[in-house]
Amino acid sequence: MNYISTRGAGLSERHTFSDILLGGLARDGGLYLPTQYPRVPAEELARWRTLSYADLAFEVLSKFSDDIPADDLRSLTRKTYTADVYSNVRDEEAAAQITPLKTLGVENGAALSLLELSNGPTLAFKDMAMQLLGNLFEYALRKHGETLNILGATSGDTGSAAEYAMRGKAGVRVFMLSPHGKMSAFQTAQMFSLQDPNIFNLAVEGNFDNCQDIVKAVSNDHAFKAAHKIGTVNSINWARVVAQVVYYFKGYFAATKSNDERVSFTVPSGNFGNVCAGHIARMMGLPVEKLVVATNENDVLDEFFRTGVYRVRGADETYHTTSPSMDISKASNFERFVFDLLGRDPARVLQLFRDVEEKGGFDLAASGDFARVKEFGFVSGRSSHADRVDAIRDVFERYGTMIDTHTADGLKVAREHLQPGVPMIVLETAQPIKFGETIREALLREPERPPAFVGLEKLPQRFDIVPADANVVKAYIAERT
Ligand SMILES: *Cc1c(COP(=O)(O)O)cnc(C)c1O
Repeated sequence: MNYISTRGAGLSERHTFSDILLGGLARDGGLYLPTQYPRVPAEELARWRTLSYADLAFEVLSKFSDDIPADDLRSLTRKTYTADVYSNVRDEEAAAQITPLKTLGVENGAALSLLELSNGPTLAFKDMAMQLLGNLFEYALRKHGETLNILGATSGDTGSAAEYAMRGKAGVRVFMLSPHGKMSAFQTAQMFSLQDPNIFNLAVEGNFDNCQDIVKAVSNDHAFKAAHKIGTVNSINWARVVAQVVYYFKGYFAATKSNDERVSFTVPSGNFGNVCAGHIARMMGLPVEKLVVATNENDVLDEFFRTGVYRVRGADETYHTTSPSMDISKASNFERFVFDLLGRDPARVLQLFRDVEEKGGFDLAASGDFARVKEFGFVSGRSSHADRVDAIRDVFERYGTMIDTHTADGLKVAREHLQPGVPMIVLETAQPIKFGETIREALLREPERPPAFVGLEKLPQRFDIVPADANVVKAYIAERT
């Protein structure tokens, strides 16, 4: 398996899975994709139906990472996807499935269900990929006798998923910046209660944008970056995307009886990482009818899939919503899909994403390319605060199930795309406890709290307060690496 950049660099070079594992963008600013998607023939798909999650993950990943010896990869997936890591289940019997499918009911002739992706250590779907990344990083670093210092900025989900994936891993340190006093008490406690010596929480006196600017400033200091072996684990990381492909297969098998059936998925979306994995599963041959992109009030992606216009938003047009992990101004993985949509033409991708930087976007409405969106199964919709409150209330009253705000956006949009006879699987991306305020507003009661999180906010916290100054952060890192 060879990897290329969506903008064309290195077309004549060889990049293996391991080569791109610890990197971010390709050197031309593009994103890595395999030269072609591996296909899963019918006999193989039939054989996969009964596999455990860990073994299914091995089968999917081995198609993309043929440079990792099979025995090593299998022990990595078995170590990652175990019932005791994904133990925050609401139904004990479902724990062994890692991503249990919860059937809600039949609406408009379609079986509607939730694929639970948030039973991991931080109660958000990002654990699904990040936990594998932690084990892959440790494996790769050990093999080459190297170390890595991960620098990131977070307003909640990504940072805690990264810390819980990297805690205690040999050769890895995490420096995570968050806006001091601006995360919820629950999210703050989740991150700051970690006592592992390789995890550093930096509470920045400023907002989330200040945190991101510091990460950018440090990353642009190439000498510092090289000297201190700085890396990132953001959503463009290829291994994260590919790890997410697995649960589309798992969800499909859980919702169907035979491989002649088709299903649709609805994906609460922000940076387009999750639904990009669904697109890849479909390109590999998974019988997917529709991929429904659900956005919140930050509807960059919904606008594109309805009109063909991709227009990134400025800071003043990016809303702080009650599904905050989908509050994005541009979708960092979207370029991967555009590459496929344009028939894998790197010169055109380069031009379009130059237009994004220079003119704030591009318009494919007039070109024949936009019509092809349908061939890829994509449709979309958007949800507002009132919609998500309604969806949380309705699902609780009708089915007795409590859902979080992001999943509620997905459910609202899924209902606009139901087709009789086609099961609709909504990806559940977080548990309600993380977004308690909106649960209280919708249901006038407290969110469900998994037993492992009782008393979380009372645990001792470990963090350092720093000014919003990249030089101070650099000195902090330098002292500890
Ligand atoms: C990150 C996140 C999303 C958005 O996923 P993308 O891969 O960025 O599209 C949705 N819901 C939750 C809870 C998240 O943490």
